[in-house]
Formats: sequence, structure tokens, C-alpha cells
Amino acid sequence: MRSWLRRKWRRQSVSREDMAPTRPIVLMASALNSLSNAIKEAAARRHEGIVYLAGWITDSTTIITTTLVPEAKTTRGSFEVSAESMSRVVDRACKARVELVGQLHSHPGAAYHSDGDVEGANLVRNGFVSIVVPEYGLYLPELTQSCAFQWNTDNGFTEVQIEQILVVPAYVDCRN
Ligand SMILES: [Zn+2]
Repeated sequence: MRSWLRRKWRRQSVSREDMAPTRPIVLMASALNSLSNAIKEAAARRHEGIVYLAGWITDSTTIITTTLVPEAKTTRGSFEVSAESMSRVVDRACKARVELVGQLHSHPGAAYHSDGDVEGANLVRNGFVSIVVPEYGLYLPELTQSCAFQWNTDNGFTEVQIEQILVVPAYVDCRN
């Protein structure tokens, strides 16, 4: 191998290792469409809304199929889910044959991950996704101006680009 090529190769290998270790996120459009409904009640009161995301985490991908609405105490700038309510979420996910794989909450203004958001994230594990939507979810089902993070044991929450979330349709009409 020519030396310049070897250098280039090595540089690329290093940069690949440096890349944030996130995995692809697949989001069923039906789950995305249900989010605005789930957040709407809180939005009508100008309160933050919280929804849990369920599906599966495989070795390579986080798959979101289902949204779960918890009993939550909300204010204009916060939400709180009790341990009891959280355990009901896990129980219902189990009954629906899915696993808890993430959460989504709304902010009154801009979307960002606050320290409280990191501390308040329940039952995180490798591949767990946390999405924050702005303006009390006004743009849903579009993820405009939203931000997303994925958790792993080594790095905690790492930001992922919204474009990395692959929205998969539930229905495709191929007749024309
Ligand atoms: Zn927040």
C-alpha cells in the first residue's frame, strides 16, 4: 500500500473509532402519528408532555413501534412520573409484547436535553432513545427542531441527528 494511502486509511480508521457509538433508530410512522395525540392533552394546558416509546432494541437497531402514555404530574416547564406509574408503563408494555426503548417529551420553547432530563430518564439501557420536541409538540408529527439522544453504558446520552431516525410507513399504496 502506498504510504499516503496507508496514512489516509489509518486516519479514516481512527475517525471511525472516534465516531459516537449510536445505532440506527427505526420509528414506525404509526407510532410517530400517535405522538401528537398523546401529547395534545398536556399541550392544551400549555404543559410539558411525556410519552414512553416501546418496541425492541436489537444488537444493531432501536425499533420504535408503540407509544405509551403514563400518568404524569406536569407543569408549564416540567413533568414527573412516579415509580408506581412507571411500573404500570413497563407492565403495559409487557402485556403489549414490546419493551420500553425510549421516551419523548415536549418543551415550552426550544428542544434540548437539560440536566434534569438526563437524571430523570428512567430505565435507560444501551440503545435507549430520548427525544425532545419544541413548542409543546406543535410540529408533531414532524420532528422539526426536535433533538434526540441515544444512551449507552460507556458514554451516557449521545446526541443523534434527527435525520438518523428512519420513519417507516405502515401502509404503502403501490397501485399507481
Ligand atoms: Zn426537558
